[in-house]
Amino acid sequence: MTKKTKVAGEIVSHCRKCGLDLNHIVVAMVNGQPKRVLCQTCKTEHAYHRPAEERGSSSPKTPRAPSARAARAESDSAALSAREKEWGSRIAGKAASAFTLYSPRTTFKADQLMRHPKFGDGYVAEVIDVGKIEVMFKDGPRTLAHGLTIPGG
Ligand SMILES: [Zn+2]
Repeated sequence: MTKKTKVAGEIVSHCRKCGLDLNHIVVAMVNGQPKRVLCQTCKTEHAYHRPAEERGSSSPKTPRAPSARAARAESDSAALSAREKEWGSRIAGKAASAFTLYSPRTTFKADQLMRHPKFGDGYVAEVIDVGKIEVMFKDGPRTLAHGLTIPGG
């Protein structure tokens, strides 16, 4: 619809009395949406009903949520397997001595292998800043503290 909808303006609405999509006059609007309309054919005022052809196809007001969600789930699982593969290729066959036991006081570098007492084996995916690293574990990335100076510790 290119015409701007406004009160007293024309709009195509479905008229239940006429059973057709017909030109109506906008009588009332709420939040920029036509609320009540007057049928120019039967002169009946009624609530605005979107034309049947607009309801049939996907209008911008009703995005195709289910299929969009499905596509997202699909890419999620694709990302998941890629992530697990990446994780596996970095961890597999590595000697225990290749892993640095995690401690928040240790400073880690990108790609460094880590063994965490709770999360298991992982590798440093990214050094976020001096005090934070993102570590990829088998079940996903986790942000951990590193390089902390603990006074007296
Ligand atoms: Zn009508």
